[in-house]
Amino acid sequence: MEKKARSSIYKMIPAMAIVPLMLFGLLVLIICSLRFNGVMHEKVEDELKNIAASVAATYDTVYPGEYRYETADNIAFYYKGDEEITGDFTIIDSLKEATGAEITIFYKDVRMLTTIKDAEGQRLIGSGVSTIVCRDVLDLKTAKFYDEVNIGNKAYCAYYMPLLTENGGCIGMIAVAKPAEIIKDMVFKAVIPIAFVIVAGMLVAGFISFRYSKNLAIAIGNLQKALANVAKGELSKEPHPTVMGRNDEISDMGKSIVAMQKSLHVLIERDVLTELYNRRCANQRLKKIMSKAEATGTRFCIALGDIDFFKKVNDTYGHEVGDKVLVAVAKAMKASMTGKGFVSRWGGEEFLIVFDETEYEAGLEKIKAVLDNVRKLQIPDERFEDPIQVTMTFGLTPGGAEDDMDQLLRVADERLYKGKTGGRNQIVGEPVVPKKKRTPEVQA
Ligand code: GH3
Ligand code: MG
Ligand code: MG
Repeated sequence: MEKKARSSIYKMIPAMAIVPLMLFGLLVLIICSLRFNGVMHEKVEDELKNIAASVAATYDTVYPGEYRYETADNIAFYYKGDEEITGDFTIIDSLKEATGAEITIFYKDVRMLTTIKDAEGQRLIGSGVSTIVCRDVLDLKTAKFYDEVNIGNKAYCAYYMPLLTENGGCIGMIAVAKPAEIIKDMVFKAVIPIAFVIVAGMLVAGFISFRYSKNLAIAIGNLQKALANVAKGELSKEPHPTVMGRNDEISDMGKSIVAMQKSLHVLIERDVLTELYNRRCANQRLKKIMSKAEATGTRFCIALGDIDFFKKVNDTYGHEVGDKVLVAVAKAMKASMTGKGFVSRWGGEEFLIVFDETEYEAGLEKIKAVLDNVRKLQIPDERFEDPIQVTMTFGLTPGGAEDDMDQLLRVADERLYKGKTGGRNQIVGEPVVPKKKRTPEVQA
């Protein structure tokens, strides 16, 4: 099966936040440019149209009558009404100065008067127009605006207006033109502030979005690391502050991981029935206490205890009640604990108690208090008049830096056994740890 390429949220989230925003900004910019282009074309067309109309009106006012021409010795002479206007550029030049537009008056398709000059500064008198303009304006007698026409090797946007005679014929045209790039310039100038606003907006939105999504991606990455740590068995390390410091679903997930770590801790360390530390955890804790003793010279006591005749409790009251008794005994032992140390369920009805930073004599007093509290327990059972009462037997030994853990547990167990065989309901202990096997004394 083909392996799916692995992608990363860390890279994808910021990319997904930025790319659509950029595309949107670009789209807005393109739409704006196209719209402005259209509007500017209309604006320029209107402007040229007005200039053409004023050129026509000025000539009609100054020289009433129609355009015509006469030839003499193959030279054309142009007239407007009775006045000859050949070579008289005063009106069009002053209109050019006023409007900034190039102005041409055609007789038929030939430039009669024009402000347009070639590279040498010669006016383009006598030159013609393209067949398209001839067809559109002269033949069809309609005014027409062109985005781009070539006049003397230069690109212009131009408006051509037919000059109609009284009998409806077309005698020529008035053309008003401006360099083609003015539309581009106008669009550019109009779009620039918009582009600036869009780009600035995109940058701000992009920055906010990028920062947020990057932080989100970092938090997700750390969430994943926290889960991976839990999977590896790391139960005490909290997820990273980038997870816990948030106030959203991510930090909720972080809190769930912490809760999961606590639950796993309990599952791994605690005995389900009594909620005391289990044997595995007790071993670890005892090891830690012994390491501390080795490092600092502190002393401690360990007591191994067993409920007396517990089988009888089960047999008399049933296993469930037996469980209740175990829970009550565990609770009583835990409540009797003072100072450092712990109570654990060593197995069945057997318990290991460690009094840390405790000398033997103090340990003996402490375990006596524990046994007394267990003795005082009265567990009711509605089927019987008398409450259930239990006793325990303990084997007690001191420990320190010089001792071996297995040896200590063995000694405690031997003393417990001695207590059992010696009548139960007692504590058997000695302030020394025998290196070899020997018979311990009964203490209580
Ligand atoms: P001794 O004084 O010599 O310790 O006598 P005992 O009856 O307590 O000892 P024995 O080893 O004969 O019996 C221990 C009993 O503890 C047997 C077992 O069914 C019971 N037991 C062990 N774990 C549990 C438990 O979790 N719940 C209940 N109800 N009983 C348990
Ligand atoms: Mg027992
Ligand atoms: Mg037992």
